[in-house]
Amino acid sequence: MGLPNATTNNGRAPIDYDCIVIGAGMSGMAAAHTLQKAGPKILVLEAGEAAGGRLGGVERTLQDGRTVVFDTACGHFAAESLSFREQLEDWASMALLRRHPPVYAGVGRSERRYTAPLGMHMFAQAVARTLPLRCNSVVTRIERVGDHYLVHTQSSAVETLRTSSVILTAAPVETLELIDEQNAARPDARVLFEQIDYERTLTLLLALDQTSPPNADWNILPPDGPVSRIIDNSAKGVSPQAGALTIHAGPSWSNLFWDGLDSDIIATLTAVAEDYVRGTIVHSELLRWDRSTLINPLEIPYLTLSRLPLFVCAGDAFGGGLESAWLSGRSAAQKVLAHMPIA
Ligand SMILES: Cc1cc2nc3c(=O)[nH]c(=O)nc-3n(C[C@H](O)[C@H](O)[C@H](O)COP(=O)(O)OP(=O)(O)OC[C@H]3O[C@@H](n4cnc5c(N)ncnc54)[C@H](O)[C@@H]3O)c2cc1C
Repeated sequence: MGLPNATTNNGRAPIDYDCIVIGAGMSGMAAAHTLQKAGPKILVLEAGEAAGGRLGGVERTLQDGRTVVFDTACGHFAAESLSFREQLEDWASMALLRRHPPVYAGVGRSERRYTAPLGMHMFAQAVARTLPLRCNSVVTRIERVGDHYLVHTQSSAVETLRTSSVILTAAPVETLELIDEQNAARPDARVLFEQIDYERTLTLLLALDQTSPPNADWNILPPDGPVSRIIDNSAKGVSPQAGALTIHAGPSWSNLFWDGLDSDIIATLTAVAEDYVRGTIVHSELLRWDRSTLINPLEIPYLTLSRLPLFVCAGDAFGGGLESAWLSGRSAAQKVLAHMPIA
């Protein structure tokens, strides 16, 4: 498709971008890749240090110099739709993903699941590699000025960027901070975003002095109790130098103990997981995820806040989970492309 590159704006200050995508989680990356294929000038702004968002994944250096790697949120994820499967197969052909053995047989969930052999953080980096991405760049305000937007950012310096359209993929709380009556023509947007809620997850990371042997059953579903899932990252292959367990507490337990002392939560979850601990614990760390599983997602693919100039919201709020995040980002980008003038 012959799309224009960075519009001239009728003799006024030039527009910097055809579209700015805010957020480089799964949804923002899907939007950016979809736009990029069609050729407009785009930029992705990400508040964090790297792409990935709630794909989750961290590395830590132990005192003895070894690196320990954790998948901190998803260990694997489902693909129900044909388009997402095709995308995942594409990434699998590049060795960024591989099929994961069935884990939820008989409970009505998809058995087509994928995992990242080098860890979710490396997967995110690989997906983002070809994107025009600016990290450590927090969008503080989106201002509508005539036929375009000014996107104000705060990184090492304050900066203002001009764009013909915006795709915002921040989670609902951050989205609510960025939208107002001035830039969001749709009056019910605030009400819609305010009704979205997430379950919370307390997650314990344990680094161990011994690794586990490779095992396809690295995704451990312990019997009923506070812990809902344990990821053995060295058995999975993502943490080859040191043992690394990710221990997710279930939603009810997480809610109950959310405000508890870190030391108490760490002690309880460590005791529950003790059968899976090999050797000595050399590092422990508690994460508080305030947005894991969506409770009441919006049953639409994305939300158009304004048609002229175009401002679209996307993300996992539109369906829930990683697959919805990807589908939503892609659909939002298709909407933006459909509105772009052909050169
Ligand atoms: C513990 C846990 C377990 C999970 N398990 C699964 C699972 O098994 N299967 C599954 O399908 N899903 C799972 N999920 C959910 C999945 O991770 C999310 O649905 C998905 O990653 C959301 O992607 P997203 O792009 O919509 O949002 P995010 O990943 O949150 O991306 C939004 C991005 O926007 C950035 N941002 C926000 N505000 C600004 C701003 N003002 N300026 C610039 N950037 C900004 C953020 O930094 C972030 O990177 C899990 C989540 C958690 C926390």
